[in-house]
Amino acid sequence: MAKKRTEHIIQKDEVEIGLFQLRLMFGDSWEEDIHLFTHSFFCDCGDENRELVNYKSYISSLNDVILKGWCSSCKTIAIKYIETGERAGIEKVSDRVRKLNKS
Ligand SMILES: [Zn+2]
Repeated sequence: MAKKRTEHIIQKDEVEIGLFQLRLMFGDSWEEDIHLFTHSFFCDCGDENRELVNYKSYISSLNDVILKGWCSSCKTIAIKYIETGERAGIEKVSDRVRKLNKS
C-alpha cells in the first residue's frame, strides 16, 4: 500500500498568505468560516472529531483559498479547498491581499 505523502505540494500559482490576509478574504464572518472549514475537510480516517491543524493558507490564481495542514486525528496531511473565487467582489479583495504580500 502506498504511503501517504508527508509534505504538502505547493502549486506554482499559489501564494502563501498570513492570518491578516486570510481574514480579509472572508470579511466579517472569517472566524466562523475558518471554524467551519477546519472542521469539514476530507480525510481518509473519517474521524468525526477531526480538525485541520497547523495549516498554512494560500491563495490561488482563481482567488480560491487553500488551507494546507494536518488532520488532528490521524496526524497525516490534509487540505481544505475553499472556492472563495466565486464570491462577489472577491477580485478586489484578493488583489489587495496579493499586494500586501509584496510589501
Ligand atoms: Zn485523518
